Amino acid sequence: MENLNKEMLACSKCALRAGCSRVVPGEGSAEAEIMFIGEGPGKKEDELGRPFVGAAGKFLDEMLTSIKLKREDIYIANIVKCRPPENRDPLPEEIEACWPWLLEQIKIIEPKLIVFLGRHSMNRFFPNEKISETHGKLLIKNFGLNPNGSPKRQHFLALYHPASALYNGGMRETLLKDFKKIPMALEVAKGK
Ligand code: URA
Repeated sequence: MENLNKEMLACSKCALRAGCSRVVPGEGSAEAEIMFIGEGPGKKEDELGRPFVGAAGKFLDEMLTSIKLKREDIYIANIVKCRPPENRDPLPEEIEACWPWLLEQIKIIEPKLIVFLGRHSMNRFFPNEKISETHGKLLIKNFGLNPNGSPKRQHFLALYHPASALYNGGMRETLLKDFKKIPMALEVAKGK
């Protein structure tokens, strides 16, 4: 993971790198069973080089605590590793340019469960799903390979983006409720 992070820090495959302060590769345990995938760094993340350290990150921490998880237990990455200007949505070509980095991260971590934070990350894996319909539901498909080369049955859980809950009490409740499904989704993913 350290080598991969070094490579990411030196990346300039898309235009985002020229407009941001630094690359934000991701953070957490390389042995995590759960990997969270957000959208892209915001202002604070761009300043500090760490994912989810702004207001949305505070809410994420609160939700992690609610299911007794710590940041060190999980891995958090983003679909794009560089901050889009003015926090605009990442463009399809930027998501594509950054995709191989995410694939490498997934290969190293081998998460049992991938949790999408928001529609951008979900739609890169499931282009036809709508977050309004799939949030809080377990999605399963073959993705990547097992160590023996057979297709891996990967489990995913889609959640709304934590930032969407910051000024919307209803969304906050929905997210808290969906978040509580993570432990059960992990058990299912582990085949228990
Ligand atoms: N929002 C994201 O999607 N990712 C971050 O790292 C921070 C805010």
